[in-house]
Amino acid sequence: GLELRGIGKAFGQTTVLHKVDLAVRPGEFLALLGPSGCGKSTLMRIVAGIEAPDHGQVLIGGSELTQAHPAARNVAMVFQNYALYPHLTAAQNIAVPLAMRRLSAWQRMPLLGGLLPGARAIRRAIAQDVARVAEPLGLAHLLARKPAQLSGGQRQRVALARAVVRDPSVFLLDEPLSNLDAALRSSTRREIVEIHRRTGAATLYVTHDQAEALTMADRVAVMLAGRILQCGTPREVYEQPADIRVARFLGDPA
Ligand code: ATP
Ligand code: MG
Repeated sequence: GLELRGIGKAFGQTTVLHKVDLAVRPGEFLALLGPSGCGKSTLMRIVAGIEAPDHGQVLIGGSELTQAHPAARNVAMVFQNYALYPHLTAAQNIAVPLAMRRLSAWQRMPLLGGLLPGARAIRRAIAQDVARVAEPLGLAHLLARKPAQLSGGQRQRVALARAVVRDPSVFLLDEPLSNLDAALRSSTRREIVEIHRRTGAATLYVTHDQAEALTMADRVAVMLAGRILQCGTPREVYEQPADIRVARFLGDPA
């Protein structure tokens, strides 16, 4: 699981996160719901280890991991603007985390180019892992394409496949559906819940969309202006808002 204790962060004079506490249990799907600018992505970057907090601790599987690389934390993430490598095929993009894990530094580059002789067994194992995650996401026939030759929704699914290929214990998604149209959004929503169930990861899912939080999550954490004001099941949060600010946000989302 994932636990945040007293996470604080300021940019200059502006405090963006005020002592945020949050726990996501293994196998739990927790939606972090809040309006634009409330600090969701900043919190996600801190969990991912991309940004350092001013205060507080991030615990993964019960132990604090400070400077470790996200790959070492077994944390996988999909960003708001999913970043694929434009010069690599879909299959190679999905294989990047596997290659990072399996190969020593000198082997990395040639493998990604698909040129390394003598690493055939590793390549075959990686190809199998890629196929395993690509198939349920409907990507099997698209693996040889580069991002520019894929639709937005297909790119999004490549980003999801890349995130889950290492069987993460913590799965972070920051508004992963924001670039999709309504139809793709609902099918990808289902795929994400399915991936979550299959992997049993602790999933932290950022959204400003109440319908998403309500339908996908086991629990919802409502964040406003850098504070988590309430955390409970969708039902608890909607039936008994902890506070007038939560009630206002839920009644009139920004
Ligand atoms: P959205 O839903 O629009 O993605 P968010 O909840 O993810 O919003 P953050 O990106 O975490 O919001 O930003 C929180 C606040 O911190 C915003 O006011 C933003 O302008 C500010 N902020 C974020 N990153 C920086 C930075 N590197 N330097 C200064 N201010 C920043
Ligand atoms: Mg954001």
